[in-house]
Formats: sequence, C-alpha cells, structure tokens
Amino acid sequence: MKQTEIVIVGGGPAGLAAACAAYDAGVKDILILERDRELGGILNQCIHNGFGLQTFQEELTGPEYAHRFMEMVQQREIPYLLNTMVLDITSDKVVTAMNREDGVFQVQAGAIVLTMGCRERSRGALNTPGYRPAGDYSAGTAQRLVNMEGWMPGKEVVILGSGDIGLIMARRMTLEGAKVRCVAEIMPYSGGLKRNIVQCLEDFDIPLLLSHTVVDIHGKERVTGVTIAQVDGNLKPIPGTEVDYPCDTLLLSVGLLPENELSRAMGVEMAPVTGGPAVNERLETSIPGVFAAGNVLHVHDLVDYVSQEASEAGRNAAEFVNGGAQAQKPGIPVTLQGGPRYSVPCTIDPGKVQRDLVIRFRVGSVMKNRFVSLYLDEERVIHRKRPVMAPGEMEQVVLKPEMLAKHPELKQIAVCIEEA
Ligand SMILES: Cc1cc2nc3c(=O)[nH]c(=O)nc-3n(C[C@H](O)[C@H](O)[C@H](O)COP(=O)(O)OP(=O)(O)OC[C@H]3O[C@@H](n4cnc5c(N)ncnc54)[C@H](O)[C@@H]3O)c2cc1C
Repeated sequence: MKQTEIVIVGGGPAGLAAACAAYDAGVKDILILERDRELGGILNQCIHNGFGLQTFQEELTGPEYAHRFMEMVQQREIPYLLNTMVLDITSDKVVTAMNREDGVFQVQAGAIVLTMGCRERSRGALNTPGYRPAGDYSAGTAQRLVNMEGWMPGKEVVILGSGDIGLIMARRMTLEGAKVRCVAEIMPYSGGLKRNIVQCLEDFDIPLLLSHTVVDIHGKERVTGVTIAQVDGNLKPIPGTEVDYPCDTLLLSVGLLPENELSRAMGVEMAPVTGGPAVNERLETSIPGVFAAGNVLHVHDLVDYVSQEASEAGRNAAEFVNGGAQAQKPGIPVTLQGGPRYSVPCTIDPGKVQRDLVIRFRVGSVMKNRFVSLYLDEERVIHRKRPVMAPGEMEQVVLKPEMLAKHPELKQIAVCIEEA
C-alpha cells in the first residue's frame, strides 16, 4: 500500500489551502484527492464577484479565487488526483479511493485533513406536498447548470430560502433573462449576507417575503406554479394567507449540510449543531491525526474564512506528522452564553495554543447592540461591540496565547453575548 504523510480529502478551497500550509510547514509528501474533474470545489460555479476581499484585498470571482490557490498548489508541485472518489477512511488512516486509471486503491496516511465541503438540503427534507415535476432544483444545481454547463433551468422562477446561494441565483437568473417572482423565506430574517440582499434582490426589485413558505407545488410533468403562505411565530402556515404564484421553476436554497458520511463511518465524533466533526483547538477530530476544515466542519459565509481555517488545519497536520502522535488531553469545553449556537473549536487545551486561536461561532437569531465577550474563568479578556449580528453571518473572537499565559489554572472558557 502506498504511504503518504498527509492525505487531503477534497480539493476545494479548504483542501487547497490546507495542502499549501502543510507544505510550507515542512511536509512535502502530500496527496490531494478530488472527485470532480477539476480542483476548486464549489467556487468553480460561483462566477459572481465578491470573493477574496480579505485574503487578497481584491474583489475576485469564485473561479479566480480558486485559481489563485490552484497556482499555489502547482508552484509547490503538490500532487493531486482528479475524478478520484474517496470511498472509505479507516480510523487508522487507511484511505480507500477509486478512479478510472487506478481502479480501487489504498493509501496509508500519516495524517488526514477532511475538506469534503457540504451539500444542499433537498426538497425531500421539507415534506412539501405535490408531485415530483421537472423544474424543481436546488439553487446550487441551477447555479452549476447556468454557470458551468450552459443550461437555463427555466423562465419564471420562485426561490424558496434566502441564504446566500438563493439570493445570488435570484440575480443570476434575472441577468440571464428569467423573471424571478419572489424569494420566500420562512424565518423573519434572511439567512444571507446583508450585501447580497441589497445587490441581488433590492437592486433588481425582487420581493423578499419574510415569514413565508411554499405550501404547495403545482404541476405534474413540469412545475406550473407554487402556493406561498405566511407563517406564524411557530413557523406554521397561517390559513387564508395562501397566494398562488405561476412559475415553471422552483429553486430551493434551504440550507447546507456538511458532507460527513466518511467522517461518521470512520468513527469521528460529531458536533450536533454544526453537523460537522467536533474539533479541538488544533481543528483535530476525536481521531488523533485527523483534522477537518472548511464547510465539512461548519458552513461558512465567506470563503476567506474557509482558507484561513484550512491553512491552520494544514499547519497542524504538518506539526502532527513532524512531531509524531501527541496524546490527546481532554480540553476545556467552550461554554456558550446569551446567543451563540455553537463554537469551532468546541474544546480547547490551553497548553496546546501556540498561535492566535480563532474561535468561530454563529448566533441563533438577529441581535442588535450587543457585546461579544470572551471570559477566561472570571476575567473578561475580550469585550467588543457588535451593532448587529445575524445567523447568516459568522462571528469570531481571537484567543491569544498571552491571554492564556495569565491563567495557568484555567477551568472555564466562555463566549458570551452581553447586553450593551
Ligand atoms: C451551491 C453552493 C454555492 C455557494 N456559493 C457561494 C458564494 O456564492 N459565495 C461564497 O462565499 N460561498 C459560497 N458557497 C460556500 C462555499 O462552498 C464555500 O465558501 C467554500 O467553497 C467551501 O470550501 P470547501 O473547500 O470547504 O468546500 P467545497 O468548495 O464544497 O469543496 C469540497 C470539495 O471536496 C470534494 N469532495 C467531497 N467529497 C469527496 C470525496 N468523497 N472524495 C473526493 N472528493 C470529495 C468536492 O468535490 C469538492 O470539490 C457556496 C456553497 C454551495 C454549496
């Protein structure tokens, strides 16, 4: 069996950043395995701009952003296999994959970085009544059809879900000549970034119906329309508020699910809220030497954060390989108070924090005029005003090694949202 020091599963932005960082940290024996026909992951279909403002201080399209990282991989001559599906990973890090040239093959990895991204929640998860007519797509599938395959899914469109992909597809379909009748959102707030609401809906006069959902899909062979109703505080449709919208296409943008079948099968402990692995301060899963980053770990809003997080995972994987197996000590669980739904990492061993540690989280509802605070035991080490926080936008605090140095007997780490 081939031996490789670090195997990266998935060649999207997370996988590419992890590979480059591991290489720069001194491990040259790396293999990226990617099931698609090219590197770059989902960014290849995101042809709109707005990527890379933080990483490159430039506004790039998704493919341009991905290309920058592909070039870095190529400059370092990091090997990768395309059209190669990883089928299985064992807890002792044997990776089984297959492609047309090599058939089924196995690689014994010294460390693994899981970067398989996420997939979209489908109509099946919503239990919407109606037949299964043509014209019902996930927004990401429509994005790929329009931007990569050159197919237009329909002419009159309703979009359910106001996450970023739904918002971006509302604009994209409009620019391609379709009439987007509305975007319906079951929650009283949008799940997308504010800038996307302005640039993708308001600039094109596309109505956003908050607290509304699709309660019926009409049509047998092809979608002919949908019924949209208002929902109450318990998200239940309010009888008498139904309105029919004729359309030939329904795009669903109703959430992303981290792609963790491989992680679960290998026995990685999962975090219930994110649907991704539970990781410690090194982004290491419950299996020593197996790291995770990007959308497979938790769904990100901006790819810049994916790249930052994955670079950290890559460096940590390199340190693992260079330093050999280090016994995992149970870390301090990160306590959440006043609004955060989850944190990544979810445990921290203070003794292992050598560099600035970014703790990322999302809040569960829209919050205005609050402070984000970080407590080490009783001491408040971070207290930052946030005029608005929303579930669609990721928040972060940066824990510095010098903060931890003042707390040698640390017992509690808490991320709190506090009233102004
Ligand atoms: C449909 C869609 C549209 C999006 N649009 C935007 C946007 O407009 N703007 C934005 O900032 N963010 C967008 N995002 C979020 C975007 O996914 C992230 O910013 C970023 O691409 C995540 O990087 P990643 O590497 O974690 O995942 P991905 O980009 O999804 O990459 C994961 C890679 O892993 C590969 N893979 C998965 N399983 C296997 C396996 N078993 N074997 C081998 N390879 C495997 C996949 O083929 C893929 O290439 C979108 C996400 C989706 C799903």
